[in-house]
Formats: sequence, C-alpha cells, structure tokens
Amino acid sequence: MVPDPRIEEFRIPESDCCWWCGDLAATQEHRIKHSTIRRVANSTPGGGRPSDVYKVSDDYRGVLRSLKKGSQVKWRKNLCADCNNSRSQPFDRAYDVMEAFIVEYADELMRWPRLTWSDVYGEDWQAGAANLARYFGKQLGCMLADQRLPVPTELIAFLNGADRCPSVAFMIFRNWKAGSAHRMMRRDGFTEGITTFVGLLPSSLRHQDGRLIGVDFGYHIGYVWFCAQWWEDTDRSSWWEHPVIDLPLLNANALDRISWKARELGVRMKNWPKDPLRGQSAPR
Ligand SMILES: [Zn+2]
Repeated sequence: MVPDPRIEEFRIPESDCCWWCGDLAATQEHRIKHSTIRRVANSTPGGGRPSDVYKVSDDYRGVLRSLKKGSQVKWRKNLCADCNNSRSQPFDRAYDVMEAFIVEYADELMRWPRLTWSDVYGEDWQAGAANLARYFGKQLGCMLADQRLPVPTELIAFLNGADRCPSVAFMIFRNWKAGSAHRMMRRDGFTEGITTFVGLLPSSLRHQDGRLIGVDFGYHIGYVWFCAQWWEDTDRSSWWEHPVIDLPLLNANALDRISWKARELGVRMKNWPKDPLRGQSAPR
C-alpha cells in the first residue's frame, strides 16, 4: 500500500474475527495465489524451491524463504477456514481458468483490443467472470483487513452472491511496456516470456472530509492488470456485466514495485538492462 500518513485515522480496532462472516479468523489467504507462486518457481529449470522466486516490494528484496508460509506470501490471519476454503473455491477455480488463458495466449493478447468472456469461460461466462471478480474482491477484503481498514458491506454482499457490486469497479488493463518486454523476452528465447512476473500493484486510499471513501487494489499476471477500485456511493459496471470488454493499454512503472519472478530469469537476463521495462518508447 502506498504510504499515506492519514491511514491511522481510518484504522478500526484489532479483531480476531473473519472479516467476511464474523466467525473466528483462523487462516491466512495468500497474497499471490499459491498455485501461481508454484508456477513461477517451477518455471526455473529444475526449480520449484522458494529460492527460485525473487520478490521485490517496499519491505523486501530477495528470494523467498517459503512458498507457503510467512508474511511475505500471506495476508495476516483474518479469514475463517470455511470462507478461505470451501466458500471461495469457485473464485479460485475462476482465477485458475483465467490465469491458464493468459499464459496460453500471452503472445496474442497484446494484439486483442477486446476480450470475449465466452472464449475464457464458455457458455457459463457470466458466472466465471463474476467469480473471477469475487476472487479479487476477496483479495481486496484481505488487504483492507490486513491494514485494519473496514471492508465495504457491498463487497461482502457481492462475495455472498449479489449480482452487482456498484461501488467497486473491477477492470482489466494491459501494461504496454510489460507487453513489449514480453515480446522481447520471447524473441530472446524465454519460453514463458513475462508471464512469470506476477505481483500486487501499489494501492492508494481516497479520503474526503476525514472519511475513507475509496481504495484501489491491483494484481498482475505478466502484462495483464486486474484492478478493483472501491469508491463509496458510486455505481459503475464491471467486467462480468458485459459479454465483451475492452482491454485498454496503459503505461506505468508500477509493475516493478512489487513483483515475484523466477530467479533464474533474473540470472539469465544478466546481459539485459537492469530494468527490462525501462527504455521502451510509449505508444502513441
Ligand atoms: Zn468466515
């Protein structure tokens, strides 16, 4: 989260309850899905160990000590076992399908200005796309609870099955620079390209008259960015409400701020500039 001195004003008292249902919180959600960190680790030849994953964030720089445990890979304990496991399983499945789609079509997606949901989820695209949003909604809730910030009731209603979540806009973008780096890496023989660069994007708070009224949450798989933006009292449509959505191209350096990547990739890229995404010209 981007440091904001006002954050203290908005914190709520410490709680040992699940922010979703109110039961005792006994489990921790992964900041990046465990299967995704495994995929990143396994992309290194002979890999699969924590030391195959390099993490860069505001408070950490180095290889991981564990893919499964610890504050570098998990949010604080703020969900009960039921919410973190069976209740959110459909969200996990929807994420897995989308991730596999992104990895499979990573070479093509940069040329697609739009995404047709049925290409990803088939006939049941609306449920798939909504559950994908719920996956990121759950992450947003975990991040807020981790920071002892209140979780919007509308977000909880959406996780409980509400059709819409008007005050949270769920959006997908493509990072142009990262897409360009993907092309170069593929040309240079890196099989996975940039799809093994995954991470959280910096979050920021929005406040007005001493009240917290909004927060941004972002997550990326390669050059595909998922953003969940809560903004109190707004009514915006989100990605599952349209059979075809635009995939706007953005430029930002945020990708580098917090990311996990295969260590080997860093080693093999020795001859590259330190930041492979820097030095690219912007699209017109
Ligand atoms: Zn719960």
